[in-house]
Amino acid sequence: MSSGMVYFVGAGPGDVDLITVKGKRALQQADVVIFDRLINPFLLTDVKDDAKLIYCGKQPCKHTLRQEDIQREILIHARKGKTVVRLKGGDPAVFGRVGEEAELLAEHQIDYEIIPGITAGIAATMYSGVPLTHRKHSNSFAIVTGHGSRDDGTPNINWNHLAKGVETIVFYMGVKHLKTITTELIKNGKAKETAALVVQWGTYSKQRTIEGSLATIANQVEQANITNPAIIVVGDVVKLRAKLAWFDNRALTGKSFLIPSKEEANKKLVASLTKQGADVFEHDLLTEESDHLKQEILQQLKLISSEHELVFLSSKSVSAFLKAIGEQGLDLREIYCPIFSIDEAVQSTLQMVGIQSRLVEEVHLTRPILVGGDIEVEDMKANFAGATKELILSTKKVAKKDMEAFTRLIDEQHVNTLLLTSCTEVSHFLKFLEITDVSKERVLEQVTVLCIGRDTSLLLKENKIPVDRYVEKADVTKIIKAFEKNLILAKES
Ligand code: SAH
Repeated sequence: MSSGMVYFVGAGPGDVDLITVKGKRALQQADVVIFDRLINPFLLTDVKDDAKLIYCGKQPCKHTLRQEDIQREILIHARKGKTVVRLKGGDPAVFGRVGEEAELLAEHQIDYEIIPGITAGIAATMYSGVPLTHRKHSNSFAIVTGHGSRDDGTPNINWNHLAKGVETIVFYMGVKHLKTITTELIKNGKAKETAALVVQWGTYSKQRTIEGSLATIANQVEQANITNPAIIVVGDVVKLRAKLAWFDNRALTGKSFLIPSKEEANKKLVASLTKQGADVFEHDLLTEESDHLKQEILQQLKLISSEHELVFLSSKSVSAFLKAIGEQGLDLREIYCPIFSIDEAVQSTLQMVGIQSRLVEEVHLTRPILVGGDIEVEDMKANFAGATKELILSTKKVAKKDMEAFTRLIDEQHVNTLLLTSCTEVSHFLKFLEITDVSKERVLEQVTVLCIGRDTSLLLKENKIPVDRYVEKADVTKIIKAFEKNLILAKES
């Protein structure tokens, strides 16, 4: 069998939009994705439903053994002819060991491409308002590891050359050894007043930045309890932050929203939340399946008679219905019964495909058939008195990649707010919990629940999900206000 293709892809430092277009395309095509601990897990929602995901949670200090396993995995899958993406945080070549991994592929004559990414040292500094070079302040920068091969983990660096030869220095993996780093730099000629900056979780909304000098930064960082992942920047350029800090301190800085389904109606809201500094993870956690229902659908379509009333529950149900008719080799004109829409939006969708319908509220229905996906039908059934029939066109499942992304977003604390903007979203979220066995308590322990609209809040209460923040409309100013209210909640601390 011909060997596959391996793409080494730089995922960027955190902000999901900082992956390259080329990298994203490779990710979407991958059969196998082998990903690191420091990538934003939301990127996984982009992969194919059936892609195999392999986590290689490299922990600091546990490189050696793991590295062999990773290389073996890449080889195994490439040899099976698969398209493999090796997804690495930041840039694959900056402390990312792409050299070793690609070398092995070259030895085995397996094709590969390396797609660069934005490295944390460049992105996190710029998101803190610090450009690495500046005509007046710095003509050079160096990227240096703060973790080294010595027994105590301190880096093996020619401190004298570093301190005297470069104007801006960026250390990776160095927080643990910050005291050693600053002491050595001072000892070797850098003034102790030289500005220094530490940025944790750079480019995420939860980015934290501590600014000081070589003399003070180690203590400041210890007090602020800043741990990895963080970079350290040393040099005069750090002072520019006073003018250029564009990312911090926006109204929603530090907030990260999970919206469990993607709806066109939320487009403006998502853009505004992001503009105000929040991370927004908006994704359909549920995927539709319809192939397994084909037989059943055919039988039900054949049973529709002129005495029935077909009720379309959503615009999607209209297209799914037409698709089913076509796939089954039937003709729409054979369906003789009157047609109804649940609301005006559905009515206009039907009109666009040449079907005139009446709104359900205008008539008393006697033999309705509810047309839609399983959740829609389940949710709507109670509104129709008497005997209803159902034409279920799809059921929901949770794709493995979405489960992986969701679990990691929660477990790695990338999400602190669950945003529910409609009853549909609530139903989808509840269905997600039901299908996956994810504990509702576990999720609620970590997130603040922000709800939009009265009906949404009633449905949440009915399902014993406490609403922590409430706004009437999808209005970003109101959302900001809702967070300002002095309702101090333990889990938000
Ligand atoms: N290849 C990666 C670096 C891997 S080494 C890149 O190009 O960015 C891991 C180190 O990168 C961490 O210890 C930390 O120093 C730094 N790092 C990665 N992501 C970061 C982030 N979002 N903010 C700050 N530092 C980060």
